[in-house]
Amino acid sequence: MKPPEVDPSFEVSLRPPMFSEFTGQVKVCERLELLVEAARKRGDVLEHILLSGPPGLGKTTLANIIANAMDVNVKNTSGPVVEKAGELAGLLTSLEKGDVLFIDEIHRLQPTIEEYLYPAMEDYRLDIIIDQGPQARSLRLQLPKFTLIGATTRAGMVSAPLRSRFGMTARLDYYAADEMHKIITRSAGLLGVEIDDAGAAEIAARTRGTPRTANNLLRWVRDYAQVKADGKITADVADRALTMLEIDSDGFDQWDKRIIEALIHKFNGGPVGLNSLAVAIGEEAGTLEEVNEPYLIMEGFIKRTPQGRVALPNAYKKLGLKPPVGPQSELFGS
Ligand code: ADP
Repeated sequence: MKPPEVDPSFEVSLRPPMFSEFTGQVKVCERLELLVEAARKRGDVLEHILLSGPPGLGKTTLANIIANAMDVNVKNTSGPVVEKAGELAGLLTSLEKGDVLFIDEIHRLQPTIEEYLYPAMEDYRLDIIIDQGPQARSLRLQLPKFTLIGATTRAGMVSAPLRSRFGMTARLDYYAADEMHKIITRSAGLLGVEIDDAGAAEIAARTRGTPRTANNLLRWVRDYAQVKADGKITADVADRALTMLEIDSDGFDQWDKRIIEALIHKFNGGPVGLNSLAVAIGEEAGTLEEVNEPYLIMEGFIKRTPQGRVALPNAYKKLGLKPPVGPQSELFGS
């Protein structure tokens, strides 16, 4: 079995270790804290939790915070990594009572593996088949009571039977500018970089509401400030650093620009199917759908319709064009 994915040490050091240091997602955190408190009071094991939302918003972080708050160990793996039932069995049998098993990208678990997970989640047992042909026998393993925390960027792709086995599902959303500001200031403190309010605001505006992006941009701006300025991050330094990375004031990177350019120039504003759009910009359809699109949709640049993706007036304005009038504009309606 391949080892579970490990975060770069940079990410780990910036990961808030407890709820009080986790900014934003207020309602989700309130509910999670309540669940934790109730389980602790009962001396019980926490129920299974499914966290969904775009990448980099804090699902893994929250899973670790929950395990910390419950004072239990956490084992990490991810859907595509668990290829055989035996690997799942190995993970599950290594857990102690109350431990958290974190499965990232849980929507990418193979259906056969998922089937093994159902009784494990519900009754804490695992029926595995050993040997093949006439000697095949089923072996029942009793597991300790554990908590499964699943994370997914594609809540819609989690099968109904799996979803129904989670006691709680929570969806994380993009962060507001003031929350990003707070996260950047905190990360800068941990990294030992001097940053003023305007500098943090300048970076915050370009993070697409995503803490992981914020930390990455901050690291870049820090490096830039060290080489091209006196090490302190001001609005001007942040602006110059991010302009060098071709990240504009809306937080658009080259890929976002390519998407709306292709949509408007190559497909006449759409509607166009996801795969055709992906081929046109040379990106994988899955990445486009999971990473770039959610933000473009939320900010009203593009829209998903049953016929395909459509460029909205904001996208035309972004490219300095006039939105079309006439039949094409009917596509803008909701
Ligand atoms: P996901 O699992 O949703 O892809 P992560 O939990 O790995 O996202 O978060 C990415 C990074 O962003 C983490 O390393 C962490 O440092 C930072 N982060 C995420 N959410 C927050 C938050 N609410 N406050 C501060 N930092 C955060």
